Amino acid sequence: MAEPSAQPGRECVLCPPLRFRINAMAHLPGEASVLARDRDFLLMPDVAPLADGHLLLVTREHRQCAGDFDERLWDRALRWRDRVARLYLHAYGTGELLLFEHGPALSQGGGACIDHAHWHFLPGAPGVRAVVEEQGLPGAPAGHAALRARFRTGRSYLLIEERGTATVHPGDGVRGQFLRWAVAAALDGGPERETALAGGTWRWQQTFGLPDSRRRFLRTLRALRRAVSALDGPSPRDQRDDSHQ
Ligand SMILES: [Zn+2]
Ligand SMILES: [Zn+2]
Repeated sequence: MAEPSAQPGRECVLCPPLRFRINAMAHLPGEASVLARDRDFLLMPDVAPLADGHLLLVTREHRQCAGDFDERLWDRALRWRDRVARLYLHAYGTGELLLFEHGPALSQGGGACIDHAHWHFLPGAPGVRAVVEEQGLPGAPAGHAALRARFRTGRSYLLIEERGTATVHPGDGVRGQFLRWAVAAALDGGPERETALAGGTWRWQQTFGLPDSRRRFLRTLRALRRAVSALDGPSPRDQRDDSHQ
């Protein structure tokens, strides 16, 4: 289990004891916002959702990125991806799913805000790959081997899966939270894009805890909790969490 990169940083906000610190700062449910879990992963809403349904799949143990996953963990992560797709179909009526990861080979690489492996999920297919390629970052077919090779040679990456196709893009030197920007740009589209983005609302630090962001978080939590219960049946844990709301 213990790999050199599996050093839990005490200051990591996705590891205990700080894991739900940001939720607490925004007066949002923390532990109770975990929609589902197994021995490897936690599934929960992003604390500053870019759209309704924005979720994070987070490793329970500290890992740098998915390029750092072994074969077993990678397979588990893909099964979680499929489960999220089923949840989205139930909650939002779309079979489309966007997956993205800023894969930091080095600290803050790939524009990562947090150096702890996490996959972002959103319902729909807003066209993020096109936005990233417009920025001069061409994609290559992506899988576990491609991410691992980049990670092992110290190259950060951007992973995008959209419309069932996964691509990996160069992540070295991109600005902070570049992929969040790209998603916001794809979602906004059109001529309003520049004004919508000028405020920097794609940076999670600028929106978490604001009224719209909190409402979106809570809507996401409600919609997906219902989907989890409908598809998996309520677990004793979920019922206990509900009673706290
Ligand atoms: Zn961590
Ligand atoms: Zn992230």
